[in-house]
Amino acid sequence: MALIDLDKIIIKRTILGIRCTACGGNLVVSNRKSIAGRLARVISFGAVKPESYVCETCKKTFLLL
Ligand SMILES: [Zn+2]
Repeated sequence: MALIDLDKIIIKRTILGIRCTACGGNLVVSNRKSIAGRLARVISFGAVKPESYVCETCKKTFLLL
């Protein structure tokens, strides 16, 4: 029986195909909801569910609409 470390999987979850435009590092889902993301959701009446990502390397934040 294999032991699966769920915590590790969640922490290490990266967005495939999306790279930091500044340094090329991995982007991970950010728990913080950005103001821009909240605004986009309000303007679109909830149709858009923006996700915010943060670069593991340089901590630059990105918003994916
Ligand atoms: Zn970066």
